[in-house]
Amino acid sequence: MYDLGIASLSLSALSLFAGFKSHDENSSKERMRKEKASGKLGIALVGLGGYASGQLAPALTETSNCFLAGIVTGTPEKAEKWKKQYGIPESNIYDYKSFDQIKNNPDIDIIYVVLPNSMHAEYVIRAAEAGKHVICEKPMAITVDECDKMIAACKKADRKLGVGYRLHHDPYHLEMMRLGQQKIHGNIKTMSAGFAFNAQKGIWRLDKTMAGGGPLMDLGIYCVQAFCYVTGQSPISVTAQEGQKTDPERFATVEQSLTWQFEMPGGIKAEGFTSYADSRNTLKVEAERGVYELAPAFNYNGIRGNGPEGKFSFPAVNQQARQMDDFALSLIHKRPVRLPGEMGRRDVVYLQAIYQAMRSGQKVLIR
Ligand code: NAD
Repeated sequence: MYDLGIASLSLSALSLFAGFKSHDENSSKERMRKEKASGKLGIALVGLGGYASGQLAPALTETSNCFLAGIVTGTPEKAEKWKKQYGIPESNIYDYKSFDQIKNNPDIDIIYVVLPNSMHAEYVIRAAEAGKHVICEKPMAITVDECDKMIAACKKADRKLGVGYRLHHDPYHLEMMRLGQQKIHGNIKTMSAGFAFNAQKGIWRLDKTMAGGGPLMDLGIYCVQAFCYVTGQSPISVTAQEGQKTDPERFATVEQSLTWQFEMPGGIKAEGFTSYADSRNTLKVEAERGVYELAPAFNYNGIRGNGPEGKFSFPAVNQQARQMDDFALSLIHKRPVRLPGEMGRRDVVYLQAIYQAMRSGQKVLIR
């Protein structure tokens, strides 16, 4: 679905191809044994769609603290392909019915939920009940109530819950956090961010029941996140306006586009834009002593940045590999998870406030 990083996609695909060998059951079991013996944690991916196959599985060939140990899929052909491609033993392949049996599998320490948004809650809760730590893709869930249940289930099972916010591991975004939070160019006055692409009909993203909303849930969440991590603050209130529906059939249940304005502490104004029928990929900060920005801002790679002192320049990284390694390290070293369920819940509160402001036409206070 996403096409955010042609360069790294083809690089990953190339390296995968170069190192590709078709594993048999014995070599797969031997691979598991070696990976575990090296101290790495095993991850099982649930839902082998675009993001899991295009980004996460290739990233797991580059991780140092975790590895691809298992898969959960409802499609036997996918199971067969992944088994051979990544060396996954038969005993580590599950479908949605046998999912709970993962509890008996010591190869798997972490379950990574990469399903449509409305399915996150059920599978995070079942993963915790199976005694596994969990990473959940964004948005964490489609309601705050679901987030509460997910957090409670992980607490009850004494398991960690993290959210797949990959940009916290990207050097360009880390630089924006440094500039903003340390006020390197003075106090921030205004911010703007936009993330939009064209989404076609026939996919769950355009179905409110499965996605929880439209582009705001999928893309606008990146702008919401950026406003928070660049300022290190939380929004106080929001106003929002739904864009015109030029394709009411395609956008029968969700917004086509949406603009919102956060009021942040210190008088900072932050305006976000998201759409499924447009193209936008920017993050801009106006501070007292200059402007700093990213464009494209939210890609898997190829991000570009500019500030009052010129262009930013950072080496390419694999965001997803860093993100999963960091989660694994937090388990290994028993330290708090950097992007926890509480942050995912917080963002769902903000997304719901934006929708409330959009529907009511009123300013909504965020608590
Ligand atoms: P996708 O449609 O490509 O994949 C979804 C997978 O879920 C498919 O393998 C599908 O077979 C499976 N599935 C199981 N039950 C299903 C059902 N009842 N209906 C539909 N699909 C079902 O989606 P995706 O792009 O991989 O997105 C999955 C999740 O990952 C979403 O929550 C999305 O927001 C998130 N995501 C995050 C990023 C990121 O950069 N962090 C990027 C893309 C997607």
